[in-house]
Amino acid sequence: MEDDGLLRGGGVLSFALRLTARNLVIANLAGALIQVALNMLGWLPYPLRQSLAVALFITTVVTFLVSMAILLVVGRAIRALAQSRDSFERLSATDPLSELQNRRAFMNSFHAPRPGGLLVLLDIDRFKQVNDSYGHPAGDEVIRGIAAALAEHFAGPGIALARLGGEEFAVLLPQGEAGRLPLLQRVEQARRAVAALRFATVPVSVTISAGVAEAPATGHALEAFAAADRALYAAKRGGRDRVVAAWEQPAADPGRAAA
Ligand code: GH3
Ligand code: MG
Ligand code: MG
Repeated sequence: MEDDGLLRGGGVLSFALRLTARNLVIANLAGALIQVALNMLGWLPYPLRQSLAVALFITTVVTFLVSMAILLVVGRAIRALAQSRDSFERLSATDPLSELQNRRAFMNSFHAPRPGGLLVLLDIDRFKQVNDSYGHPAGDEVIRGIAAALAEHFAGPGIALARLGGEEFAVLLPQGEAGRLPLLQRVEQARRAVAALRFATVPVSVTISAGVAEAPATGHALEAFAAADRALYAAKRGGRDRVVAAWEQPAADPGRAAA
């Protein structure tokens, strides 16, 4: 598509020049063919060579000017459309408060083939108390601060990080060669980094709990979400401010329903 070419960096000018060059070839070829045909019918009022030379000059000048004028305008319009489509797509995948991916974008990472890894669900502890004690704007500041800390901590190729909603975040960590233990340690470091954060409007430390499960390399992620959610619940029940791995937990947890 030409609009992709425009965005890839060719620019509007080279787009217009490229198409104008094509138009020049087509216009001159068509003009020459018409004149040859007219000449064969004896309808050409001038000698063919002379007529071809004049037509070549006029066609080239007129086609160049008209084609460039139109294509520059069209090119700018295509680029503007492509840019607004791009920013709309970015907006529709971004959570406005945290500026992380939103739930929809995060779920899309499960549609693409991936090397497996860990799904981490993180939830701010006793966040309602933060809102109740210091106000909703202060709660928002905490969400933004924790999101920024998580984004710093979970940066890297293949990692997806999102705010799923409310005070809940999710990370998809691709499987490393060293297996799941280093990934689990990384989640533990993130937990500690969050506990060490300080906020301008909230004079207490805020902690997070995390539930970790293996993410399947193929297929849907419902089971991984259920397992990570059970582990998260176990982390809450175990006292909060901790990371729990699903594989260390019993498969079913009837207490979850009462949460
Ligand atoms: P737990 O440790 O069990 O997770 O307790 P909690 O208080 O964090 O959980 P609970 O589900 O009881 O409360 C979550 C609170 O998060 C309630 C809701 O008002 C608040 N919340 C959800 N979204 C936002 C938001 O965008 N901004 C702010 N400031 N608060 C939010
Ligand atoms: Mg929650
Ligand atoms: Mg919470």
